[in-house]
Parts: sequence; C-alpha cells; structure tokens
Amino acid sequence: MPARIAIVGYGKIARDQHVPAIRDNPFFELVAVVGPRVTEGPGVPVFADLVSLLAATAVNAVAICTPPDVRHGIARDALAAGLDVLLEKPPTATSGAIENLRAEAGRRGRTLFTAWHAQHNAAVTAARALLAGAVIRRLSIAWFEDVRKWHPGQAWIWAPGGFGVFDPGINALSIATAILPMPLIVTAAELSFPANRQAPIAATLEFAGGDFRAEMDWRHSEGECWTIGIETEDGRRIELLEGGAVLLLDGVRQAAPGPAEYPALYARFAELVAARRSDVDAEPLRIVADAFMIGRRTTVESFD
Ligand code: NAP
Repeated sequence: MPARIAIVGYGKIARDQHVPAIRDNPFFELVAVVGPRVTEGPGVPVFADLVSLLAATAVNAVAICTPPDVRHGIARDALAAGLDVLLEKPPTATSGAIENLRAEAGRRGRTLFTAWHAQHNAAVTAARALLAGAVIRRLSIAWFEDVRKWHPGQAWIWAPGGFGVFDPGINALSIATAILPMPLIVTAAELSFPANRQAPIAATLEFAGGDFRAEMDWRHSEGECWTIGIETEDGRRIELLEGGAVLLLDGVRQAAPGPAEYPALYARFAELVAARRSDVDAEPLRIVADAFMIGRRTTVESFD
C-alpha cells in the first residue's frame, strides 16, 4: 500500500515539481491538495485547510509547500495528527520553529524531512566526495538572478519572514553546508533593503577561517548566475554551476549521473518514512539567521 500524501500550499513549486515527483514515485499516492484559495487541483480533491483534509480522508504524510512563515503551525498540527512531514525549503521562518518541530517529530515518532532540493543534485553529492577531508583555501558563492523574472507577484517574499534574496540564496548555503568539510561561521554581513520593503534585495556574507564569502543579488537582469567556486589547499579547483547541476574539477566537467532534484528528494523521503527516521538540517537557516543578527543594514532604492 502506498503512503497517502497531500500537498499543503499549492503554488508554483507544488505544481511544477512536487506533483510530478510524487506521481513518479510508487512509494507515494497523491490524495489531495490543501490551500485556502485553491480553485482547481491536479485531479485530486482540494481542501481549504488541514482540519478539513483530516476530517474527510485518510492521509499518512504531507508535503508543506506554503511560504515559510505559516509552516510551523501546519507542521506541528500534522505531526500531532500522526502524519509524516516534508518541509519545502527554507523549512521554517525561524530557528526556534525548526528546533521545536525536530523535538515534536522525535517525541511522536514521526518522520520530519527538511527538503533542501539543491542538495539532491547528483553533482552536489559528487562534489562532497571530492571535498571530503580537504582543507579549503577559498570559497566564493555568486547567486544572482532577476527577482522580477523568478518571483513575479510573490508579495510574501518581501514580508517579514519572507527571506528576500535569501529565498534563492539559501539554496547556495544548503549546497555549501552539505559539501564543505567545515562549518560556515558568519563574521560579517551587509544586507541591502529597498526603502519600501521588509526583506533584503541583496546580501554579502563573509565567513571565518579564510577567503570565504557569498554574494547574492536580485537586481541581476542579464540572466542567472548560480555558482559556487572552491579552492583547496592542495590546489584543486571545484566549481558547481547552474544551481548545483554541473560540476567542474580544475575546469573540466565531471560526469555526475543520477536522478533530478525532486525525484531524488522524494526517494529520500520514502527511505526516511520506511525506516521511521527524520532528516532535519537547520544549518542553512542558522547561517541566514546569523547574517540577520550581525549584518550591517543599508537602505537602497525602493522596489516597485
Ligand atoms: P507560491 O507560488 O507563492 O505558492 C505558495 C502557495 O502557498 C500559494 O498557493 C499560497 O496560496 C499557499 N498558501 C499560503 N498560505 C497557506 C496556508 N496557510 N495553507 C495552505 N496554503 C497556503 O510560492 P512558491 O514559489 O511555490 O514557493 C513556495 C515555497 O517553495 C517557498 O518557500 C520557496 O522558497 C520554495 N521553492 C520555490 C521554488 C520556485 O522555483 N518557485 C523552488 C524551490 C523551492 P495563496 O497564493 O492563495 O496565498
């Protein structure tokens, strides 16, 4: 019997990635979508909220794909109802919320999975293997895109708890924390806030221990740049391009066969549910929280 799963938060990523990935994974059966304003689902029943879903049908798991600020309450209620929970990235809006969910899942014996999709690229796994035990001399993250192209009409992304440029930038941090053999400790940050917004449009972070930095900017209209460059003490150059999809070693592309991000992510969720285990990685969130704690704030041109 497949695990009966519902998607809570039926927006862009749920439609583009979660629905097809669930349908391609025989471990799961998509039985419903949940959202207060959803008028049409992907051929399954639609419910306004978790309470009406649970009253109407049997469910084993939920994939929570809402904006981050409402995830904690939904996930807590789902765990309390005995469901296993997948959290889209970033898993919650605060560090306290994810630690609370980690404890709740443990107490109730349910699976909680922080689904950092970018970590599930085969090239990222290959980069981690290359860097195991290495001493890192240089880290350079460049995460540039056009917010108007990638987030049209998403008002939540500019609200408090919406993460601003860290919404895409945290993907880079999720890759870096997965592949580097040492923790990233923020020593300085500069956050650029549009005069009329509550979230940054650009950020620069510096990390302890060497020439380690990250730059993220949403004002980039000339195509995307989602690149991580790493140099090791013994002179190797490892680059991840295209958001972690492509791996170069000393400038030469490396073969990294494997499933795409979301099929790999659901394969991992299936494995965790079957083994009754959780996988909760709060490191990328910790780095963003630290950047907000010590970051220097500058005000830039209003965003319309
Ligand atoms: P989106 O298109 O704005 O979708 C979010 C959906 O959640 C909307 O349909 C919204 O409904 C719904 N929602 C809001 N509050 C809800 C609640 N309390 N209960 C149920 N549904 C609720 O945003 P998105 O691009 O899919 O992003 C969602 C999350 O996925 C973000 O954390 C983002 O970082 C992550 N993600 C996005 C992408 C991407 O390419 N877009 C890629 C990877 C990960 P209303 O619109 O009716 O409020």
